[in-house]
Amino acid sequence: MGRSEELFEQAVKVLPGGVNSPVRAYRAVGMAPRFITKADGPFIWDEDGEKYIDYVCSWGPMILGHNHPVIREAVERAVKDGLSFGAPTRREVEIARLMTELVPNIEMVRMVNSGTEAVMSAVRLARGATGRDKIIKFEGCYHGHSDCLLVNAGSSALAGGHPSSAGVPEDIVKHTLTAQFNDLSSVEELLNAWPGQIACIIVEPVAANMGVVNPAPGFLEGLRKLCDESGALLIFDEVITGFRLALGGAQEYFGVRADLVTFGKIIGGGMPVGAYCGSRALMEQVAPCGPVYQAGTLSGNPVAMAAGLAQLTYLKEHPQVYDHIAAKAKWLAEGMRQAVAETGAPVVVNQIGSLLSPFFTPTAVTRFVDAKGSDVTMYARYFQGMLERGVALAPAQFEAMFVSEAHGQAQLEATLMAVRATLAAL
Ligand SMILES: *Cc1c(COP(=O)(O)O)cnc(C)c1O
Repeated sequence: MGRSEELFEQAVKVLPGGVNSPVRAYRAVGMAPRFITKADGPFIWDEDGEKYIDYVCSWGPMILGHNHPVIREAVERAVKDGLSFGAPTRREVEIARLMTELVPNIEMVRMVNSGTEAVMSAVRLARGATGRDKIIKFEGCYHGHSDCLLVNAGSSALAGGHPSSAGVPEDIVKHTLTAQFNDLSSVEELLNAWPGQIACIIVEPVAANMGVVNPAPGFLEGLRKLCDESGALLIFDEVITGFRLALGGAQEYFGVRADLVTFGKIIGGGMPVGAYCGSRALMEQVAPCGPVYQAGTLSGNPVAMAAGLAQLTYLKEHPQVYDHIAAKAKWLAEGMRQAVAETGAPVVVNQIGSLLSPFFTPTAVTRFVDAKGSDVTMYARYFQGMLERGVALAPAQFEAMFVSEAHGQAQLEATLMAVRATLAAL
């Protein structure tokens, strides 16, 4: 038995499922999780000293790769001055100015501690600003684990077989309406059924928690138009796509304006951070300016701000990162498709920017129902085969593969070799 297995035996006695976030338990791939000791560049190492090429990248934050010296040094400098003050600091102003400069259509930023908090607060703001209660989300999109958004959710809420959660009262989720991603008519139906009552439509502009599913041409534009006509606010949940698809995120990439935008993951550089952002008029509805209450003891934590500011500043100064990571992901996706063609395996590979994911289905995946058609048992075997060959993928089908600036040609080639060998063995 390896050290990860030993630790896991102890872990399950004191942590539910042995973990602090469900997907980490590896249940969807039927094995004990690897316990990680350290990470550097494109690699992670487990308790047994095994080294893997990592495509989880902490679920997105590590766009520059692990342990990037610029971020590490910024954190080390910040730590020397103390860990938390519960008071305003200079870096909060600097990161907010940088974000409003880089991201279209946002004038103000409120920092929180996670993506969940960011989305929960943005929805509260949308309800407060419109005076309406109902919200529209899309089946298979994940927006964190707050009550009203844990309805027909993606990510590990999906992999665990619990599309919603116990402990969420019907009375609370009755205001959450669910539409189908890439299907504007399903949105129109809800808007017609509840005229003047929809506070917001919230969407992952690229669905990345049902595997990766690109928005169909016209889908995001259509949502914008439906919001304008109905007076609902459009919320882009850019916790994954923010500063990943482009410096300006999905709004810039697709040229579609959102009213509120949520961030997390990349803006913390690996520290726990989230943010919600929008126009001055909307954001000044938030306390202490306005009636929408939201607060946080550790919000804008100085160490987290240092990490995020260092990462975003680096990205601003090295915008070529976006061409690099997209080219690498494209190269990988094409190589994977070729390997699939050689072995005759029924696999589809979706890719956009630095996000990609394989689905074990012969048909194109453009909607949630297509993604659900993937053979998850095949994914589990694929995952195991890749791990044995030194490549760490997301331990569940309905997640993205993240390519970072640190993934070099040697690692990409090694990954494709592992893909070929694994597919052949399946
Ligand atoms: C990860 C994620 C969240 C939740 O962020 P946490 O920091 O895990 O709370 C919300 N929305 C999207 C799109 C995400 O991918």
